[in-house]
Amino acid sequence: MDANATSPAAARQPTGPVPVPQLVVEDLRTEWFDGVVAISAWMRGGPAGDGLRVRFRLHGAGVLDPTATAFVPVAAVAASWAGSDVVIDAPVDAVALAGARRAITLLAGFGSDAGASVPSITASEVIADTRVIPAEVTPSGDTVGSSHAPDARDRHQVGLFFTRGVDSTATLLADADTVTHLIGIDWVDPPYCTPGTEAVFASTRMAAAERGLPLLRVTSNVRDLLDAGPGWRWAFGPVLASFGLAVAPMLSEVRIASAFGPGDLTAVSSQELLDPWWSSSQVAIVHRTATRLDRTAAVAGDPWAMRWLKVCWMRSGDGNCGRCPKCLMTMTALYICGAGDRVAGCFEAPLSADAVWSSTQVPRVSALPIMQELVGSLHPDDPLRHAWEGAVAVAKQAMEAEKTVGATTDTLGWE
Ligand SMILES: [Zn+2]
Repeated sequence: MDANATSPAAARQPTGPVPVPQLVVEDLRTEWFDGVVAISAWMRGGPAGDGLRVRFRLHGAGVLDPTATAFVPVAAVAASWAGSDVVIDAPVDAVALAGARRAITLLAGFGSDAGASVPSITASEVIADTRVIPAEVTPSGDTVGSSHAPDARDRHQVGLFFTRGVDSTATLLADADTVTHLIGIDWVDPPYCTPGTEAVFASTRMAAAERGLPLLRVTSNVRDLLDAGPGWRWAFGPVLASFGLAVAPMLSEVRIASAFGPGDLTAVSSQELLDPWWSSSQVAIVHRTATRLDRTAAVAGDPWAMRWLKVCWMRSGDGNCGRCPKCLMTMTALYICGAGDRVAGCFEAPLSADAVWSSTQVPRVSALPIMQELVGSLHPDDPLRHAWEGAVAVAKQAMEAEKTVGATTDTLGWE
């Protein structure tokens, strides 16, 4: 008999609901190596397949939250795009867990055309205040929850994710009185790490040092979990939230500089209605918005900001190519702000309508609100305006096609 044939007994079995796959988060660890502290968790099932260890690392002195709280946003978005539930076999902050359920419901709604669903999220232990968990001794003899944490929180330390792009740079200028730390994500994990990314981060260090602010250099291999499912476009907000939750012992507030303006509810993974829900009882995740042109004007007026401006991810290494859509959007915004004469110092190619035409034939759906803002601010007779109108039309067409087939047509990063 064919071993694969359905047995009469199996054929009679009622067909119940198919069990939902589970993404299990377990075996939580705090690790130290070569001046790096990492929190890690083993993830298996659902989008994690046979399993992988996901790490969030801090390079240099500091303390990370030893609970599973930081893993909640990334596990939630990975599970959402895989049709899985999340089961966390470790302690999680109560506020973060309740908020994450709201956050992922909202995000899955945004991404429903791209296949997202709302996962259930459960944890084996829910704690009201993560400061009361047993302290973990670090190699230097410091303890989590005693020496660093209350001290930091008493002083209300505020971190800002910093890339040297227009959004984070302008937010730093606007929030200069309150931001105490910059947070820099350095993609040291293959395949993202190149000699180019090293050069970019080296400049980010110098920019922070010149500004006199400590830079928390954080890294993670979490894209191994996310790139096959939600991808960066739908995951970058949760990734930022996870980093923010990881550094909770050092900061009481972490700010994300939005790529969009106030009240712009474009369905992306970092958005003003969404980000605050990822907060925990220890750290508030705060979304900061301003209009693109206000931010560009602030950056244009600050020599430090113009010296370190980095918006381009097409060019290998530091600097800005001046030819890609992100460069051209920034150059156009500088031109609108009356800073066209300062473009040459930051970009390797000149701004022209032809350059805009040729770079925007690939649709940039996520950049639609920014491109529309540029169109609205350019003189009706300006050839640049006509070029950006063309880019908007291409993006709108792609957006319609995306709705029809559920495809993803671009991979806008944040900023
Ligand atoms: Zn560029």
